[in-house]
Amino acid sequence: MDKNFVFMFDQPEKGSKELLGGKGANLAEMTRIGLPVPYGFTITTAACNSYYDTGQVIPPEAELQVLKALKLLEEKTGKKLGDAADPLLVSVRSGAVHSMPGMMDTVLNLGLNDESVQGMAELTNNPRFAYDSYRRFIQMFSDVVLHVDNFHFERQLEELREEKGYDSDTEITAEEWQQVIGNFKDIVKKHAKRSFPEDPKDQLFLTINAVFDSWNNQRAVLYRRLHQIPGHLGTAVNIQSMVFGNMGNDSGTGVAFTRNPSTGESKLYGEYLMNAQGEDVVAGIRTPQPIASLQKEMPTVHQQLIDTCQLLENHYKDMQDIEFTVERGNLFILQTRTGKRTAQAAIKIAVELVKEEIIDKQEAVLRVDPDQLNQLLHHRIDPDHKRTPLTSGLPASPGAATGQVIFDADEAEELAKNGKRVILVRPETTPDDIHGIVASQATVTSRGGMTSHAAVVARGMGKACICGCESLKIHLNSKQFSVEDVVIKQGDTITIDGSTGEIFLGEIPMIEPQLSDEFQLLLRWADEQTKMGVRANADNPQDAAKALEFGAGGIGLCRTEHMFMDAGRIPLVQDMILSETNQERNHALDKLLPMQQQDFEEIFKTMQGYPITVRLLDPPLHEFLPDKEDLLVDVTKLQITDPSSKELNEKQELLRKVRLLEESNPMLGHRGCRLGMIHPEIYEMQAKAIFHAISAVNKKGIQVNSEIMIPLVSHVNELKNMRQLVVNIGEQIKEETEEDYNYLIGTMIETPRAALTADRIAQEADFFSFGTNDLTQTTFGFSRDDAEGKFLQHYVENEVLPSNPFVSLDQDGVGKLVENGVKMGRATKPALKTGICGEHGGEKKSIQFCFDLGMDYVSCSPFRVPTARLAAAQATIRSKQKEQVLQYN
Ligand code: PEP
Ligand code: MG
Repeated sequence: MDKNFVFMFDQPEKGSKELLGGKGANLAEMTRIGLPVPYGFTITTAACNSYYDTGQVIPPEAELQVLKALKLLEEKTGKKLGDAADPLLVSVRSGAVHSMPGMMDTVLNLGLNDESVQGMAELTNNPRFAYDSYRRFIQMFSDVVLHVDNFHFERQLEELREEKGYDSDTEITAEEWQQVIGNFKDIVKKHAKRSFPEDPKDQLFLTINAVFDSWNNQRAVLYRRLHQIPGHLGTAVNIQSMVFGNMGNDSGTGVAFTRNPSTGESKLYGEYLMNAQGEDVVAGIRTPQPIASLQKEMPTVHQQLIDTCQLLENHYKDMQDIEFTVERGNLFILQTRTGKRTAQAAIKIAVELVKEEIIDKQEAVLRVDPDQLNQLLHHRIDPDHKRTPLTSGLPASPGAATGQVIFDADEAEELAKNGKRVILVRPETTPDDIHGIVASQATVTSRGGMTSHAAVVARGMGKACICGCESLKIHLNSKQFSVEDVVIKQGDTITIDGSTGEIFLGEIPMIEPQLSDEFQLLLRWADEQTKMGVRANADNPQDAAKALEFGAGGIGLCRTEHMFMDAGRIPLVQDMILSETNQERNHALDKLLPMQQQDFEEIFKTMQGYPITVRLLDPPLHEFLPDKEDLLVDVTKLQITDPSSKELNEKQELLRKVRLLEESNPMLGHRGCRLGMIHPEIYEMQAKAIFHAISAVNKKGIQVNSEIMIPLVSHVNELKNMRQLVVNIGEQIKEETEEDYNYLIGTMIETPRAALTADRIAQEADFFSFGTNDLTQTTFGFSRDDAEGKFLQHYVENEVLPSNPFVSLDQDGVGKLVENGVKMGRATKPALKTGICGEHGGEKKSIQFCFDLGMDYVSCSPFRVPTARLAAAQATIRSKQKEQVLQYN
């Protein structure tokens, strides 16, 4: 049997969302539940994949099926494509499984040509409308299909408006549009080197090709990379009979969200433009009206729209983003999809849908994307700061940001690459600006509403955005904007508050974020579900307190070297490192010991009995020493200016010792437990500090649940030695202090050899903590700093690697070692505690992976703890759901 490449909207056998794409599936669903959806059909994602498999040609059976579907569409509408008297016009839109707003192409009014436009003019008795529709079609088609830059067409229009003194396109007459059409066709000939196709079937198939092609255009590829959408899914194409919002003042078009996508408030939210078509609302060229004013202009349609929105939200059980058109007083629904929303809105909507008994708590926990939460954990403008805004626009996407003003997306990207914080300021944005929006801290536009391109994209990315700030007069040529007589030049610093729409001059103090009540409630629901612990990586009492505030169940990694980095301690640490005799070293260590002990006491007190994994010193010692190059410069200068000085002698001596400690590959050099092996007195001092701190805190009646961790083990004998060292000190201090205490001794698994010999290593370990930062470096043979600086981005962009393995765990390679480590470790000791403390411990896919391996906990930086709590809960719920399905079958 032939493959079904085409589905009519009302076809009885349902196509899956994977085949029809989100838009196609929803159009079919809406048709089924009886909503006023213009009729049409969907070409499947399978056709798109065949298109690519066969070298970008539409498969012949798909072509035949499209022609058959077109016939059915013509029968249903009673119109024919290209008919001179009463032409059928269609829209052709892309629609992938995951919604990718604005990333791929759309063509409207397809079917118009020199003949049918006349029929349409007569039939509607509105030549102005017919010719306007035709020129829009030529413009869109030429842009999307023939790749003629839209700028050429817009320049024509601008010249006409200027010549006639018109403020808006609605003033352009039918005759003038006819002239414009002639000019547009000349533009096509000149730039596309072919004439505009008059045959509607040619128009149709060329457009279908172009929509398939747009699946792989630059912005779609970038969007997929940002949102980790696989490239092999392909897009469907939706062909739908046109309805017109530009038929006069009883027509219009708009976008409605069933709840506010920025704040989550449960109130219909959206915008519309009277006498306008399709993309006018999102394009941001005219600033639209808020939906509430539709009540006055068209009360019946307004009520109908409210009822439809309610129905769609109840049907899909989630906030919907709906596109509608009113044609001569009749409402049509063109599209519905699950609305993109900010993290704040996502949480509020999920919590309220539970309260409204539309979804349950489990579903609410699944509704919020853990990656989005970091939006809420960013800084806000200090509420105590007196606010004197320069001006304000529409609060399109919340959050505050400071940066240099930049007017061009490419320049924004370039500066951001060099570590600059920038704010992109544009009259409006188009999909071609997306890389600039990604690179910027925030975006500001002077035109366009809350559903304009900039607003939608920024909200999707969780970046602050202000739109429609009309008081901003932007002069792109001179790279500056003005607000009345204040002039801001490119490079000047501004601060914006996307939650209020305010813009400020200069930098403004910010404060740390706090978790809202709804956020806390959702996280409590998450914790009720979770079967895996979440801990934090914290090195000092402040981080420990933050970790507890964010709901961590302990510390999974306390990097003790950070306690040595304190400016006041560095000289002592340097003395310790540079000492050439044991006596000198012990002397320095004796001074460091009470300081370390004090740190541990503070952290232990803060953690009040929660587990704390303390890692003994890990990095290469030279990290604590002055930079060799700097020293060399100082020595050379002194040799010229003050050759007999004491300072020169000291610096030369320091330089000699720094050179002695120098390593050709420090990350693989004398670090981790290798330090403890060669200089046991360092680890002994740390162990003493820990045990003295435990007994001191115990004496105050506070429990300490400590786990002492040995880093960078590659052979079991290293652990065996270091374990003995720690146990000896532990027992010695028990005797000295007459305090009894329990503690565990374990190791990081962060070298491939440790993972491969985990059964042996487990004999000496009470727990394993997977250090996937180093494990990724050592498995790939990448040094992270070099890889990220030099070639990793290229690898990801060219799909050599699916993502940065330092961000999302490489499950096929590094993951195999982790899996092996857990399994072999547990084969030796079934109750072996296992966790992860590399950066992957805060990333949702890696968390799912750790959950599937049965790890006891993940550990990540305090600010990622909420994300990890939610991701851990989602992993638990998903596994429960899978079990239920299995039981069912
Ligand atoms: C690791 O290697 O994953 C780890 C947590 O240790 P660090 O990042 O301190 O090397
Ligand atoms: Mg490490």
